[in-house]
Amino acid sequence: MHAAVVPAVRARWELKDVPVGDPGPNEVLIKIRASGLCYTDVHQTNGDLPGPFPRILGHEPVGDIVAVGTAVTTRRVGDRVGVPWVQSTCGRCEWCLRGRSMFCANVVGTGGAAAGGHAEFMPAPADATMLLPDGLAYEQAAPIFCAGYTVWSGFRWADPQPHERVAVVGIGGLGHLAVQYAKAAGFETIAVSHSPDKDELVRELGADAVVRDGTGLADAGGADIVLATGNSVDAMADAIAGLRPDGRFVLMGFEAKPLPVSPGDLIMRRIKIVGSQQNGREYLYEALDYAAKGKVKVVAETYALDEINKAYDRVAEGKVRFRAVIVT
Ligand SMILES: [Zn+2]
Ligand SMILES: [Zn+2]
Repeated sequence: MHAAVVPAVRARWELKDVPVGDPGPNEVLIKIRASGLCYTDVHQTNGDLPGPFPRILGHEPVGDIVAVGTAVTTRRVGDRVGVPWVQSTCGRCEWCLRGRSMFCANVVGTGGAAAGGHAEFMPAPADATMLLPDGLAYEQAAPIFCAGYTVWSGFRWADPQPHERVAVVGIGGLGHLAVQYAKAAGFETIAVSHSPDKDELVRELGADAVVRDGTGLADAGGADIVLATGNSVDAMADAIAGLRPDGRFVLMGFEAKPLPVSPGDLIMRRIKIVGSQQNGREYLYEALDYAAKGKVKVVAETYALDEINKAYDRVAEGKVRFRAVIVT
């Protein structure tokens, strides 16, 4: 099969012919139909996040099951599925036993320790797959497996209450979905976006207001929840200025540097700074359900697998509005 292989840290991706194995007893083989490109792919390529080389990245894969292992009872050939980041864990540590397997030290991640979705086929443990809702297009479903799952998880983790206001910082791959999820859940939603040229698009996504920074957010009445989804730590931290007392700042965007936070802000406004990741399958279910109902739509640029370096460059340069998806 064809696959996009990252040969070494910081190296150009290469399209290669790679053998497709039979699925193991508990695995399924997925014919990939769509695979989202996340800014995390750039961090992984640059070695900012751990992982071996050479490897196949892609942690937003969806497709059709074309083969099942001998011990698989819950999935069938023809099932439409996707696979999130966590494929398997040790099953024996405290966090696995507590049902919080995302904290297991031995997570096997899609496009991490396990081969990812930027390929024609991908094996995965049957238990790691999630059935896609009927009618949800592949290129709409793929980005929900990281971007959508992440932001909906973060929003749920902030414990949103009726009448609260939500702000989203960083209107990119994650943020454009965060705005739509907050609106779909019925919340007044403010986008914090530095670039005026995105304003019209941001309003079309459903934002009630667009402000430029944390001061602008404060002037607009502030937010009880800030969903920080950008890849600039400074821009995300700046939005704390617009957080209301007892507000929650939920950090989901990654940059490899410290987050500057004023102790005075934390104490005087009793602010909570919360990190969040993909917080459990029920949130993935809900995130997919909103997409299937058409309440959340991925704005995607689609590329063929052999155009993946073009797609990667656009993601790395921040030119993609709002998600690049490889369709195969
Ligand atoms: Zn991702
Ligand atoms: Zn474990």
